[in-house]
Amino acid sequence: MNEIEFVERCVQAVLEDGRELNEEEVYRLAEVETPEGRKALRDGAARLTRELSTRRFDSCSIVNARSGRCSENCKWCAQSAHFHTGCHTYDLIDREECMAAAEANAKAGVRRFSLVASGRSVKGKALKEICSMLREAKERTGIQTCASLGLLGREELEELWASGARRYHCNLETAPSHFATLCTTHTVEDKLRTIETAREIGFSICSGGILGMGETRRQRAEFALTLRRAHPESIPLNILAPIAGTPLEKSPLLGEDEFIDAVALFRMAHPRTELRFAGGRARLSRDTQIEAMRVGINAGVVGDLLTTLGSTVAQDKAMVEEAGMNF
Ligand code: SF4
Repeated sequence: MNEIEFVERCVQAVLEDGRELNEEEVYRLAEVETPEGRKALRDGAARLTRELSTRRFDSCSIVNARSGRCSENCKWCAQSAHFHTGCHTYDLIDREECMAAAEANAKAGVRRFSLVASGRSVKGKALKEICSMLREAKERTGIQTCASLGLLGREELEELWASGARRYHCNLETAPSHFATLCTTHTVEDKLRTIETAREIGFSICSGGILGMGETRRQRAEFALTLRRAHPESIPLNILAPIAGTPLEKSPLLGEDEFIDAVALFRMAHPRTELRFAGGRARLSRDTQIEAMRVGINAGVVGDLLTTLGSTVAQDKAMVEEAGMNF
């Protein structure tokens, strides 16, 4: 069976037999390499996206509630205290600044608002403050609230649930076989434990990672397959932006075609999950972003306050509509 026939058989397995692709199939899709095979993979993923996933673009905005001085040693991250990156550090965002961000995003029609904190986990007074800000943001604006606060235990997650937040974000980041070469202070299993507890409490899960950290295509498949254990409703796909001062500062940039192929692979492995544009999107051309939406992206981090995004909410809204989705 040639690559095109194999891809078509996979699409048929999902659409007509109604089954999930098995590990062997996902690994083989990651190895598709001829131009015809890759076109078939993108078209197949686009078909699954059209027929099975939502056409309502799930927009979210994020605000750094705490920045820098992190005890962990993730090699890609500007906020790790192990590296000298000169990143902006602060203990906790000012409440009024946080409310202004929530209000601006709600007014612009952004669906979700998330507070993100650096560090292995957020506990005690800081957690109380963040929960209180999330509660106030939801009450004041009606926006849906999410949080990304590291490796929380049951007690902390229950406190967060009581604030009204209903989605928990914890990235697996990459394939387990690659993660250990990038971070030694925690593991993918630690992350999966937090995610499982969050699910048991009732949170929906947002969990994805970063592409372009030196992983092989096979490891991208391993990453997509491991994410199935998290049962995520949303998979953010970041593209590494190499940061000066981190061990990954000289990493070659992920090509735009590689990104689209990765989106297609993730769509084949997760036909109904939201695939979310996240960090690094600003580097992609507008055409690539529209192609990524055809192939699988149907959610995204947006916002007028995040200058690193490189686009305003109004511009993103126009692009989403051009791609045939509702914002
Ligand atoms: S735990 Fe989060 S904030 Fe800390 S170094 Fe790793 S990615 Fe950065």
